[in-house]
Amino acid sequence: MTSPSAWTPSRDEWTELLDGQPRYRIDQVWHGLYDEGIHPTEVTTLPRKLREQLSDRLAPSLRPAITRSADDGSTVKWLWELGGDVAIETVLMHYEDRSTVCVSSQAGCAMRCGFCATGQGGYQRNLSVGEILEQVVRARTEAEPRRLSNIVFMGMGEPFANYNRVLEAIGRITSDLGIGARGITVSTIGLIPQIRRFTDEGLQVGLAVSLHAANDDKRSELIPINRQHPIAELVEVCRRHRRDTGRRVTYEWAMIDGVNDTDDDARELAAVARDTSAHVNLIPLNPTPGYPTVGSPVDRIRRFRRLLAEAGVNATVRANRGTDIDAACGQLRASTRADGDDGGRQPPVAVTLQPRTGDGGTPSGA
Ligand code: SAH
Repeated sequence: MTSPSAWTPSRDEWTELLDGQPRYRIDQVWHGLYDEGIHPTEVTTLPRKLREQLSDRLAPSLRPAITRSADDGSTVKWLWELGGDVAIETVLMHYEDRSTVCVSSQAGCAMRCGFCATGQGGYQRNLSVGEILEQVVRARTEAEPRRLSNIVFMGMGEPFANYNRVLEAIGRITSDLGIGARGITVSTIGLIPQIRRFTDEGLQVGLAVSLHAANDDKRSELIPINRQHPIAELVEVCRRHRRDTGRRVTYEWAMIDGVNDTDDDARELAAVARDTSAHVNLIPLNPTPGYPTVGSPVDRIRRFRRLLAEAGVNATVRANRGTDIDAACGQLRASTRADGDDGGRQPPVAVTLQPRTGDGGTPSGA
């Protein structure tokens, strides 16, 4: 059993943890964790003995094994080592006066979508609440003086396969970090019971669903879990989400050359999107080591988008960020180069990681 992350305990739990300490010590720890973004062992106003005790009981901060930047410094990717041969990635994207962080919810992913690098690498374990929160805290510090305004659960893993921890992390992001629910988006492959549960939470958090195909044959080929969670049911829970929360669902669609970018695909998608008053986000497929097909050409994407617009469906094309550092959608795989060199254009060497049991739980999560 590994020690918990310093960011996992709530304030009440920290009060218990520091039982016997004066109240201002809790304030000092809390201020360090959430205002300064530092680990309690680095809070110099705490007595050394207490810091040593905490160091024995808590996992250390996320260790950046590799930090890379791209797009003239406006995209930053971290590879964090969590110990026990587990590594995860976080991507920070800067815009003019604000930033968005893309966080991981699991080490690896059990969904096995062939076009996604994380899926190609398999599942390791769920992240804890603190491991999710620390990614946000570290990104917020790095983003300064820009404001970290948006958090997207679109990094490694399937957030709804780690449902309870992701929801707790969202609650803590809004309460302890003061980032509004409307600035947070969860992207799911489409786990139907969890989408229902999410709707019933009544949050203003955004919901994105990775659709990628609007008929079951094609979608099951791209996304194995579609066999258990077919489109008709998926569309039904999205409709319910829209109705009960008033919030528009976003369908994500990775544009794969010759696979899901035909006029028929556009028509099928338009029908589903209209039916659920959804917004569509088109993502040119990013290259991954284990998938032979490339992204759709620009004129195909344009035409596809125009067909959607003519059918009354609003679609945006997602700007590609970080492709040259494998930081773009679907490219996160906790990969590292054997020599640690950053210079290469070669495909990254995947680290061999052992599946683990322990505090992360099982992929079924929830
Ligand atoms: N598991 C969640 C969140 C992670 S992926 C989900 O599936 O939604 C975030 C988005 O990137 C998803 O829409 C995913 O389908 C997409 N994606 C995966 N691989 C990609 C690739 N190679 N190119 C472009 N987008 C990709």
